[in-house]
Amino acid sequence: MPAKLIRGDEVAARLREEMVAELETLYEETGRVPGLAVIIVGEDPASLSYVANAEKAGASLGFNVQVHRLPEHTTEAELLKLIEKLNFADEIDGIMVQLPLPRHIDSYTVMEAIDPEKDVDGAHPLNMGKLFSDEKGYIPSTAHSVMRMIEFTLQPLYGKSAVLIGRSNIVGKPLSLLMLRRNATLTICHSFTQGLPEICREADILVTAAGKPGLVKGDWVKPGAIVIDVGVTQLDGKLVGDVDFAAVRNVAGWISPVPGGIGPITITMLKWSTLEAYKKRIAGI
Ligand code: NAD
Repeated sequence: MPAKLIRGDEVAARLREEMVAELETLYEETGRVPGLAVIIVGEDPASLSYVANAEKAGASLGFNVQVHRLPEHTTEAELLKLIEKLNFADEIDGIMVQLPLPRHIDSYTVMEAIDPEKDVDGAHPLNMGKLFSDEKGYIPSTAHSVMRMIEFTLQPLYGKSAVLIGRSNIVGKPLSLLMLRRNATLTICHSFTQGLPEICREADILVTAAGKPGLVKGDWVKPGAIVIDVGVTQLDGKLVGDVDFAAVRNVAGWISPVPGGIGPITITMLKWSTLEAYKKRIAGI
């Protein structure tokens, strides 16, 4: 039997349901909607498409989404000035800077400039530290979304073996900490890992975020495993994941497609965190 699908639109719809009723009540109380500022520098096609989708999804939920599209030659000082302005803007609850940034801009300096209370994509070192310390803070939307996808399968994580391909600050590293909180046993792989197929075959949960189309083959997957494909690459004008979907679907128990998997969830998850920031600001926390 082919694997069951973890569909992005279904998971995102559940998240939206959680938000809609609350949004209505809060709007009646405050007369203000949550505000999210998304900053993109340059012309990276995958980033531009993500930001366009974020704008559309935000508007559909009644958020005030401001997209700041800056040219490639924007200086670090100019970007920092915009962030400072947004940090003080009353109508803005969340700020997200799309990565990658052009090489002449230091990402760490930029992330450090975001007010941690508005850092809804968990990029500021303070929020990363909170995640590390199991304290409540903002979590990178992509890692948070993967956790929601696993919850969607209703399969428990405790005691399970999870293999993550990719160790970036926005996917592999935060996800490993979130999974540890749920008592999974983790293996984090990267481009220097030896024997990747054998390691993957041991996984009850396999998450791949390498950005390498077709990396995960059918015979890399344990029968019945949950396979989540975070990789998104533009290939011949199409979006493709890291997983050989046709082959893996016949082995896995659950699988997320690309497109139609992680993408729509991450965008909604960013709104979810922005709603949290808005609620905290209303409550004066
Ligand atoms: P990155 O380049 O920062 O990290 C890639 C990771 O994959 C690195 O740790 C690298 O060591 C590892 N890797 C690369 N090739 C490998 C190989 N052959 N074997 C094992 N490990 C390998 O990238 P990132 O920002 O984490 O993004 C990863 C992928 O996820 C990209 O395709 C990106 O587009 C996608 N992504 C999607 C979303 C989303 O849709 N919500 C969000 C973030 C990233």
